[in-house]
Amino acid sequence: MAELEGLEFGKSDFVLLDEVTMEQFMENLKLRFGKGRIYTYIGEVVVSVNPYRQMDIYGKDSIEAYRGRELHENPPHLYAVSDAAYKDMKRRAKDTCIVISGESGAGKTEASKYIMQYIAAITDPSQRTEVESVKNVLLKSNCVLEAFGNAKTNRNDNSSRFGKYMDINFNFNGDPTGGHINNYLLEKVRLLYGGSNVMLESLHLQNNPALYVYTREGAAPFYNVSQMISLHINDFKTCLETNCHLFSLICQGNIEFERNGESVQIIGLEAVTHIAELTATDPESICKSLLYRTVATGGGDVIKKGHTKEDAWFGRDAFAKALYERLFGWIVSRINSIIEVKDYNPLLHGKNTVIGVLDIYGFEIFDNNSFEQFCINYCNEKLQQLFIELILLQEQREYQREGITWQHIDYFNNNIIVDLMEQPHKGIISILDEACLTVGRVTDTVCLESMNTKLSQHPHYTSRKLNPTDKSMDFQKHFRVRHYAGDVTYSVEGFLDKNKDLLFQDFKRLMYNSANPVLKDMWPDGKLSITEVTKRPLTAASLFKNSIVALVDKLGCKEPYYVRCIKPNEMKSSVLFDDARCQHQVAYLGLLENVMVRRAGFAYRQPYARFLQRYKMTCEYTWPNHLMASDRDAVEAIVNQHGFQDDVAYGLTKLFVRAPQCLFTLEQERADLI
Ligand code: ADP
Ligand code: MG
Repeated sequence: MAELEGLEFGKSDFVLLDEVTMEQFMENLKLRFGKGRIYTYIGEVVVSVNPYRQMDIYGKDSIEAYRGRELHENPPHLYAVSDAAYKDMKRRAKDTCIVISGESGAGKTEASKYIMQYIAAITDPSQRTEVESVKNVLLKSNCVLEAFGNAKTNRNDNSSRFGKYMDINFNFNGDPTGGHINNYLLEKVRLLYGGSNVMLESLHLQNNPALYVYTREGAAPFYNVSQMISLHINDFKTCLETNCHLFSLICQGNIEFERNGESVQIIGLEAVTHIAELTATDPESICKSLLYRTVATGGGDVIKKGHTKEDAWFGRDAFAKALYERLFGWIVSRINSIIEVKDYNPLLHGKNTVIGVLDIYGFEIFDNNSFEQFCINYCNEKLQQLFIELILLQEQREYQREGITWQHIDYFNNNIIVDLMEQPHKGIISILDEACLTVGRVTDTVCLESMNTKLSQHPHYTSRKLNPTDKSMDFQKHFRVRHYAGDVTYSVEGFLDKNKDLLFQDFKRLMYNSANPVLKDMWPDGKLSITEVTKRPLTAASLFKNSIVALVDKLGCKEPYYVRCIKPNEMKSSVLFDDARCQHQVAYLGLLENVMVRRAGFAYRQPYARFLQRYKMTCEYTWPNHLMASDRDAVEAIVNQHGFQDDVAYGLTKLFVRAPQCLFTLEQERADLI
């Protein structure tokens, strides 16, 4: 039983709701938020509401209060799950992970930072320098990634546009020895600006985003990216030493093309010169790559084919995005090489265990949903699938351990949706890939038709063609997926281009031939000549799918803990609780189902000694001390005296309570007595 904070703060665990209804859930969530209680449990899951103000709950005192304690001994907190994950890992030498999900601005990245801070604070009491420096780099790496991966969006001033999974490695002492970071789907459409004026000047950039096409317009339709993050550039400089080639790509948007008779030519040669200087290449080669593409003819000859204006435009943007993506990937790999565990000898150091922290974008439903939302929502379906499997499995294991008969729990299984998206040959990703492979002009609309044909019978797929009366969709443009979290209408416009993610080989070669060794290093595939490039690169969706499958495999063999983040309102207000918005999130995070699963079996369980300690005053046979053979027998006496026999089961070490009402009664009696 959670150490109740007093009922005026609502229920500290949703499992204790009188009835599992959306109304009661929301009422409790709102009440707690209003009272400054931003964390609430569902069993071992933490539900967090972004307070949008500095809370006095993260200091040294708090850390001490949670350190080494059991989950329900203190009010709900991230620290409690962090401690549980850590203890679990240390005691049982088992890998654990903490999965943080929620929509943009819900507080995921902040939560991941508090978790890291907590783990850093409770490890290495003797403060040995080598461990301290590992911790330091792990904590700092976040700033660097934020500097390059974040952008200001409508929804979050400091929005991470990539998913991040970080493994922290521990030795048998439980001290951190290193780590590893994986990033997922960096949104390439956003570029950054920032840095000191001196630095910018040396890069021929002016500190005014309005001057640059990319930063002025923001290539993304969903966010206002006119402002970019400059917050963390200094952290970056102290952590890594490199030149900021990144900035070269910002000029690139200022290159324009015009048709000159048969051919296309470049306007904005000044920008070309700057790019050449920043990328250590020569302007002439850049112009060539921008205007021509090398192609191998059927006969094995190699020719230069001039771009159309549209091709040139497309190539330019693809190049800028690829530069950004590779730079980011390179930064991650540099950080990894710094934090990787070195000289670890299992014979000497014992088993190496891991705590993984996943900070990943939650489900997205916008007015206009494109390829990016499709990928993000696919990822969320996969994580939800894992969540259901693991939570149920955990329940099952605990019942087995405690010798209690397992009862089947009915729950919504989203396998069917995952299949709709990822199944080989039949799933949406496969159909997309097939369309991308088809030679000739396959348009987004043609691809949509193919999906309509192949998926017409699927209960979670629909479109205007399949449902002509639905005027909210367009025949040429839309398809809709019934996700576990709700219906999302996707617009296929741009799907194929984004999935192909085509970058002409000429650009890769250009970068590979850069005189700057770092840039060259980022473009190993530029080494290949056009006749050697035979294999088609994997599509963006397939690459993403593979990385998510690998992620799920990684998480699947760890003991999971969950943090579900909720954004209370769109105004970044610390007092506003937007009922509709919150309810929406509760629904698509599947929180109500979570409570039901948790309650379907035994809602509550408690080691005999702890149960006794708390409720012994409610029974004459156990107060002040019992004379029975065991704590279990004493607990049975309490249960029988209250007439709860039919609502409980006796495990090896714990009492299992089916109906939470029993606990309310006991709590009430206890409160009346003290
Ligand atoms: P996400 O990663 O989910 O997009 P962030 O973690 O970046 O969201 O949070 C967005 C903003 O909300 C933060 O910049 C901060 O201002 C505020 N915030 C989030 N969590 C907290 C918290 N626990 N305490 C105070 N402010 C918070
Ligand atoms: Mg974030």
